Amino acid sequence: YADFATDIAKENGRDQFHFYTAALHERLDQRLKIEKHLRKALERNEFELFFQAIVDTRTDRIVGMESLIRWNSPDLGRVPPNQFIPIAEETNLILDIGEWVLWEACRWNKTWQKQGLPPVTVTVNLSSRQFYDHKLKETIVRILEISGLTKDSLEIEITESMTMDVGRAISTLKELKQLGLQIAMDDFGTGYSSLAYLKEFPIDKLKIDQSFVKGIETNPINASIVNTIISMARNMRMKVIAEGVETEEAQRILKEYDCHYMQGYYFSRPLCGEEAAQLMSIRNID
Ligand code: C2E
Ligand code: MG
Ligand code: MG
Ligand code: MG
Repeated sequence: YADFATDIAKENGRDQFHFYTAALHERLDQRLKIEKHLRKALERNEFELFFQAIVDTRTDRIVGMESLIRWNSPDLGRVPPNQFIPIAEETNLILDIGEWVLWEACRWNKTWQKQGLPPVTVTVNLSSRQFYDHKLKETIVRILEISGLTKDSLEIEITESMTMDVGRAISTLKELKQLGLQIAMDDFGTGYSSLAYLKEFPIDKLKIDQSFVKGIETNPINASIVNTIISMARNMRMKVIAEGVETEEAQRILKEYDCHYMQGYYFSRPLCGEEAAQLMSIRNID
């Protein structure tokens, strides 16, 4: 990294050198700090799983809950997943964290079912390493069995960047499909996956990235991208979830486009397990 700093310094002249080395030091420092505390976080019980509602556009009912991990570190405070998940991924800690997420998601779904709430699917975000881990299938089977959940209670989210190795991605996805799980492509539209391959992937749902959904009310280009993805998905027998629905107007437009599912702050922020149960009992029981 010293070489990198020197290269930048050469390009920018001497004044910039101190600026860049300081910035790089700070970044590296923060990274190492996160890594150090992340190693202990699981055993110290510092993670909590939150849930965000996924709503059926036609019925307005909650049909799913996306699991979103939260880390409350006594030393670093609340660290957002976008900051620590990539580090967990690089250090292989993601395998244990990811398995904890699967257990916790299934445990909560079973709890909600026992409380007599109408059944929902919990969705879990997989990281690349988890997706390509040989033990994933076995782990999921065990978790479903021990949690006492049926296969339709759990859904998996992957991203386009995880499918660069097309052959391996297809065979892994087929294995998960054999288990009876539903699979969604997250952040759709932001990656580099080719549409030619998309039809080869056994994927059930596309989650349109929030960057397209936000401003759908005011930006005709976004609106036409969203509408196009919805009709493409329909032709490919896939369902669409719009992420980042923040306003009544966005919701109205998505209804007009007949988008299957919606998710976003307009319906609910991510909530802890108890709050999620409360929300479901308000929205899903007449
Ligand atoms: P994601 O899977 O695309 O999750 C959606 C993110 O958008 C969440 O951020 C959610 O809180 C946020 N969001 C939802 N609705 C709205 C909205 O209406 N407006 C805005 N501005 N934001 C909204 P969060 O929880 O910070 O998670 C960020 C990312 O971290 C996730 O993106 C996912 O890629 C990753 N992540 C979260 N939990 C896990 C996990 O358990 N495992 C793995 N591997 N990754 C996770
Ligand atoms: Mg997701
Ligand atoms: Mg997303
Ligand atoms: Mg994301």
